[in-house]
Amino acid sequence: MRPLIAGNWKMHGLIAQLAEIEKVAAAVVAIKPPADVLICPPATLIVRAAELALHRIAIGGQDCHPEAAGAFTGDLSAEMLKDAGASAVILGHSERRQGHGETDAMVAAKANAARRTGLLSIICIGETQSQRAAGGTLQVCRDQIAGSVPTSMTAADVVIAHEPLWAIGTGRTPTATEIADVHGHIRRTLVTHFGPKGKAVRILYGGSVKATNALQILAIPDVNGALIGGASLKAIDFDAIIRTVAANAARNGSTGQQKRAAGTGP
Ligand code: PEP
Repeated sequence: MRPLIAGNWKMHGLIAQLAEIEKVAAAVVAIKPPADVLICPPATLIVRAAELALHRIAIGGQDCHPEAAGAFTGDLSAEMLKDAGASAVILGHSERRQGHGETDAMVAAKANAARRTGLLSIICIGETQSQRAAGGTLQVCRDQIAGSVPTSMTAADVVIAHEPLWAIGTGRTPTATEIADVHGHIRRTLVTHFGPKGKAVRILYGGSVKATNALQILAIPDVNGALIGGASLKAIDFDAIIRTVAANAARNGSTGQQKRAAGTGP
């Protein structure tokens, strides 16, 4: 499964920061990571970012309205994002679920709009610290997938991002074992939700990913990439994470070669 390394700039970035997108795009051309690379800047930068990226990296939005057009002051439709040059959209981020009262049903309606338009939806799920402390992480993830992810979607148009709320922007991350447990559970939930096509849906981890922990996190089974906030704002930090994907692939490749040479691999 080809990993997705996605940056979420949130409400950060003026025109001057487009220089960071140019640097990331140039680094992707140089590094050639075996991964898709996406940056989701504020909507004001999408047109220029997409022109600048020139298909070297993908550009996405951070939210969309379910309707194509209408009297919805301040909102943007999936069609508008697509028209501006986006190929993906983050939906149901915890900052929107909590700060804007977005329900699972609203996220599902937005995902349908993204699908109608041909945008890849990155649907965020994740537990709060108190839900985690009460042992509710798996149930929260299961319920959010059931409510927010239309079963008509496929691996080609949806990616799930598991982002524990207590790990976002805090510098704290779950242990590798905890991530493996939760992502294994999400994988099983996706197979129940979608049938066999759930095996192909990418599951990203998000929450305080940076260059120093990316290698370890991206090597965990059922972690098919990362959604990155703070460390996506500067090309120097984001590029370092992209390099770990290439390092991880090289490491797996050489491990696979050693296993094949030893007669223990495929
Ligand atoms: C996010 O908000 O999606 C996120 C993962 O942020 P950070 O990487 O800064 O924790």
